[in-house]
Amino acid sequence: MIKLINILTIVMISSVLFSQNTRIPVKGLALFSKDGHFQPYEFSRHAIGDNDILIDILYSGICHSDIHMGRSEWGNTKYPFVGGHEIAGRVIQIGKNVTKFKVGDYAGIGCIINSCGQCNNCKNGLEQFCEKGMVGTYGSHDYFNNNEITQGGYANKYVVSANHAIKIPSHADIKRVAPLLCAGITTYSPIHFSKVKKEDKVAVVGFGGLGHLAVQYLVALGAQVTVLDISEEKRADAMRLGAVQYVNVTNLEELKGFENQFSFIISTVPAKYNPVIYMKMLKMGGEMAIVGLPSYENMPQITLDSFIFNPNRKVYGSLIGGIAETQEMLDYSVANHIYPEVEIINADGQSLDDAYNKIVDGKVKFRYVIDMKTLK
Ligand code: NDP
Ligand code: ZN
Repeated sequence: MIKLINILTIVMISSVLFSQNTRIPVKGLALFSKDGHFQPYEFSRHAIGDNDILIDILYSGICHSDIHMGRSEWGNTKYPFVGGHEIAGRVIQIGKNVTKFKVGDYAGIGCIINSCGQCNNCKNGLEQFCEKGMVGTYGSHDYFNNNEITQGGYANKYVVSANHAIKIPSHADIKRVAPLLCAGITTYSPIHFSKVKKEDKVAVVGFGGLGHLAVQYLVALGAQVTVLDISEEKRADAMRLGAVQYVNVTNLEELKGFENQFSFIISTVPAKYNPVIYMKMLKMGGEMAIVGLPSYENMPQITLDSFIFNPNRKVYGSLIGGIAETQEMLDYSVANHIYPEVEIINADGQSLDDAYNKIVDGKVKFRYVIDMKTLK
């Protein structure tokens, strides 16, 4: 009953909220330079188009990609920069053509807010590889809306194309859903692309936000998972989540004896490392998905001889996942109780500054999620 009253209240408020051509005023938290601090930032998003929905953001996850972007580690980031591409919220207004959502529904946004919808990749559910370019949740030119630069989800509201928003079931654990929209799909997608199955010997390199979800998906498939990370503090957590062994890669003795072992490896490492060590751990015919993308300054290099002398293994990159697969991942995760382990933080500059530093220092278990309702 209370829920119904809440939803009715949202309907009533939203029906008088924004008319068709009105830009949406938004409050958020932004960085103003690559070594700056988070500060309150008021901006606006484009008006709600006929195929769009307006979301009241409840929770926003902090992905390591936000840090790479916020600190200009992947090229020249434009400032002010509002990060956040792991967004869970509630629909408060819909465009006139929208049937996928109704006001009051939960909705999620990942890394993609729009795409051309016409090219082969879009038609095949690979919107992340849209031939015209996907419109990213932040730092992207929105070619549907005067090429304005998109700003992310460390904010109170988002306008998104309904076709690119994800339905979140009403019984989902909404505090923990947001990181599935990036960390979840980025690990789920290559695990399925490589067709991992029960009893396979597999490895997860980098046991952070992405890595701890990869472990859960792989364990759920019945694979035997080895986790490799630089931290000693996460050993017990890996075993608790179902890994069969944990390797602290800073201990060279522990690293020995893994050549030709694994049929699948996913690397989520965001820092400088030597990927060839892991190529050697693949058995013949094995596949390694690279998803971690370190700063350009620390980008690992693989030389051609590494492929020739570790032959008949496949090493490929993977970028998030398409919208249909993201929906599939979300439904699967909720149905199988696969969620990130999260620390909820307040939406203020100091909390975000601290969170960024702690992520880089390996001090988060395992994902920070910002409670956007605490934004002042
Ligand atoms: P986190 O910081 O949460 O996790 C990274 C983990 O890697 C940490 O546990 C960290 O160690 C560990 N690590 C660091 N160096 C090494 C090393 N040399 N060997 C093994 N483990 C190491 O980051 P996220 O999970 O959020 O993101 C990981 C990467 O994936 C980032 O580069 C991000 O940009 C990228 N990404 C890529 C996507 C894609 O579509 N391809 C989508 C989303 C993210 P410690 O225990 O000290 O923290
Ligand atoms: Zn991300």
